[in-house]
Amino acid sequence: MLKRKTALVTGSGRGIGKAIALDLARNGANIILNDIEVTTAEETAKEINALGVTAHTAFADISDFDSCVKMIEEIKAHTDHIDILVNNAGILLDNTIAKMSSEEWNKVINVNVNGLFNVTKNVLEVMPDGGSIINISSVSGVCGNYGQVNYATSKAGVVGFTKTLNKELGRRNITANAIAPGFIKTEMTDKVPQDILERMLLLVPSRKMGTVDDIAGMVTFLASDKGRYISGQCIRIDGGLMF
Ligand code: NAD
Repeated sequence: MLKRKTALVTGSGRGIGKAIALDLARNGANIILNDIEVTTAEETAKEINALGVTAHTAFADISDFDSCVKMIEEIKAHTDHIDILVNNAGILLDNTIAKMSSEEWNKVINVNVNGLFNVTKNVLEVMPDGGSIINISSVSGVCGNYGQVNYATSKAGVVGFTKTLNKELGRRNITANAIAPGFIKTEMTDKVPQDILERMLLLVPSRKMGTVDDIAGMVTFLASDKGRYISGQCIRIDGGLMF
């Protein structure tokens, strides 16, 4: 489905990003794995190489513009095109606004919003017409969430960014979509205290968390020809969460 395509997935050493990278690879794409952590990304690269496509690692802190410029220069040594960009890397530093420090605010905005700009602006130089951009938002960005003023703001920013890219890049036949996951089991949600998680799951009709593969399947669909006429959307994958 994605033969001869190259995909860059940020934050793909573990969690949702890793599942996305693996699913794109199973469908034939060559993968560039970005992460800030070296070991996990290298392990994922080994798993992907075993699938018969190529995987390269590209370490960079996406919150740093110069680090992203350098990353693209390094990527150019392996390929002259990135057809699929998945802006997945993101962080949480939860607190109510009353208790939130400016460091907590700035760190989340720097990774989740500035990172989106830093990576996308540089990747666009090597994205051919007909490419796909998929940005990982969150239901917090669509609905707001108690104790997540920095995170919810950043994830709402992901939606505005995506809808603008759709308008600016459509003439190049580049699609831009956002995915807003609900509660997905990863290391990020493993840190949420069990009692809070149980209370949150009461809002999901099935009372179940989603899996990383629930998100990965949609990314592959949007990046394939089957998703070519879908652009400018924010697709919720949240088990029908009643937020
Ligand atoms: P995770 O914490 O398990 O993985 C995030 C990955 O991003 C890690 O490998 C981490 O090293 C990397 N990363 C962090 N900061 C980085 C930086 N500055 N530069 C490069 N890489 C960096 O998280 P996850 O649960 O897999 O979440 C992935 C995305 O999905 C995030 O954007 C998150 O906000 C979003 N999301 C997750 C959930 C959920 O329930 N897990 C729900 C909604 C949205």
